[in-house]
Amino acid sequence: MGPAKIDGFIPELSNKILKRVGDKWYASDGVMGNQLAEEVDSPENYIEGASRTVSVNTYERSADARAKCVAHYGYSCSVCGFDFEAVYGQIGEKYIHVHHIVPLSEIRQEYVLDPVKDLIPVCANCHAIIHRTRPALSVEQLKAHLTKSE
Ligand SMILES: [Zn+2]
Ligand SMILES: [Zn+2]
Repeated sequence: MGPAKIDGFIPELSNKILKRVGDKWYASDGVMGNQLAEEVDSPENYIEGASRTVSVNTYERSADARAKCVAHYGYSCSVCGFDFEAVYGQIGEKYIHVHHIVPLSEIRQEYVLDPVKDLIPVCANCHAIIHRTRPALSVEQLKAHLTKSE
């Protein structure tokens, strides 16, 4: 509701790579260059508002956090079990979205990300649906929707 207000910040400088997505520029981690694109490439796939949530959530874009998350959970979707490599072959190898479970509104200044507790691998479809509500659905809530449709 209204423009975002900044409560505080940690004075810390880090090197980023400027990356153009559509007509906007973003500071990207560079290593996982595809990560930023996969979150904001098709904002029309997300409901209004959700795209804003996704595009400001830097935790989902952190290459290091992502690596620790998938090292623990693997590359299959935690909601529906979709495995990009199993379906698309080699081009789908190691492709998965990483969803940040903690709502942005609950993140405090001193928040330290736990890649295993706070991040969860999900396929692009489940990730889009998770962000259709605000706050986002939990993995368990979305799983319940899946069961109903079967
Ligand atoms: Zn899925
Ligand atoms: Zn997400």
